[in-house]
This record gives sequence, C-alpha cells and structure tokens, in this order.
Amino acid sequence: MREQSPIGIFGGTFDPVHLGHLRLAEEAADKLGLAGVRWVPAGQPRHRETPQVAPMHRLQMVQIATAGNPRFSIDRAEVERDEISYTVPTLERLRQKFGPTQPLVLLLGADAYAGLPDWHRWQEIFSLAHIAVAHRPGFVIDVETLPEALADEHRQRLAEAPALAAETAGKITTYAMTPLAISATAIRAQLAAGDSLRYLLPQPVIDYIHLHNLYRSSDGS
Ligand code: ATP
Repeated sequence: MREQSPIGIFGGTFDPVHLGHLRLAEEAADKLGLAGVRWVPAGQPRHRETPQVAPMHRLQMVQIATAGNPRFSIDRAEVERDEISYTVPTLERLRQKFGPTQPLVLLLGADAYAGLPDWHRWQEIFSLAHIAVAHRPGFVIDVETLPEALADEHRQRLAEAPALAAETAGKITTYAMTPLAISATAIRAQLAAGDSLRYLLPQPVIDYIHLHNLYRSSDGS
C-alpha cells in the first residue's frame, strides 16, 4: 500500500483560540509530516463547564486565527450541530469522509491526553485514528503517572512519527512543541481584569473579542 501523509484532527473548545493552539497545530504539521490540520471547534463540550461564548463566536475566532494558512482547514460540523460534542462520532464521520486508507491523527495537548479515559468510548479512538500528544508547560507526559488503562495503551502503541504514515490508526506518538504557557482560562481571567491580551493570541482575534464585547457578560452574546 502506498503511504499517505496523515491528516491531523484538532478538536477543542478554543474559548478563545490562542497562540498555544496555533503552534501546536503548526508544529504537528511539520514534525509529523501532516498533509494538513483540520480544526474541529466543539459545539458543547462534555468535559468542562459550558464555554463562555457561543459556538459561532468560537468558530469565527478560529476562522480568523487560521485564515491564510494553507495547511489548516476548519470543520464546522460540531458547532453547527450545537449538541454535546464527542470525539469518537466525529472521528467516525471523518473516517467515512476520508476513507479507510487515509491515516488520521488526533492532536492533543498533554493535559487533554491524561484525561482521555474520561472520554466517552475513548478506546474506540485507536481503531479510528492515531494520537499525537504535544508537550504543554506544567504537564508531563509520563507513563508512570497516566491512568492505568491509558498507560497500558501508551506502552503498547508508542511509536515514532514516521510510523503514523505507515498505518491508518492505532499508534501514539509524542512531540515537543515550542513551550507556550498560554491558556484560554488565563486569557479569560486577563480579559475580566482588563489586562492586555497582546501577543497571546492573534491581534485580529483580540479585535474580534473587543468588537463583540466577548467574555464580559455571562452568555457572551
Ligand atoms: P484551558 O486553558 O481552559 O485549559 P485550553 O486552551 O486547554 O483551555 P482547549 O481549547 O479545549 O482548551 O484546548 C484544545 C487543545 O489544545 C487541548 O488538547 C489542549 O491540551 C491543547 N492546548 C491548549 N493550550 C495549549 C498550550 N499552551 N500548549 C500545548 N497544548 C495546548
């Protein structure tokens, strides 16, 4: 079988999208040899409190942030459905779309990876996609501290980046990205305090936040 460059799938609440997200995706494309990264903003994520702004605003900010990057594309399906978002059904849909021979790689930060066993049907991910885990400041990727079920999968599935193109799913790899201790939670707190957001997220996204007065009222509308 001819090898195909994997496609990265990057889900998140992006509440709001910031430079940590952007570098995670950009460096994944370089280091993992991806054909591209498909961003999937969550409708209503199950794993955290309701996002502070409406899904369409979060989608719009991802659109603004990724505009002009030919390696990035956006998947609107979860936002348009506006129901609780689960990763496995999304991967099933993308597997249908791209076909059985296309390698897919779910991109996760180290914190999200450690929480994987809480996700609905998480073990099914491995039949649908590989997983690539980005280092994140403050979170170590250490098999000794992972939940046991995940540690077992980690030991069995760990592979180097080139292995991702040779198979369609089922491997786990890790990659170092430029460490950026930027978090959406901290950004929302900085906004609430009236602090500057400059250099933490793209300026057009900051402009969008101010234009729509986001993160100031409880519903973000
Ligand atoms: P919070 O700061 O509230 O935890 P977040 O930015 O982590 O928000 P999401 O938008 O859901 O929340 O993150 C999407 C993905 O990006 C997750 O897999 C997360 O681990 C990863 N991620 C976010 N920020 C960084 C960062 N600074 N470095 C590496 N990975 C990150």
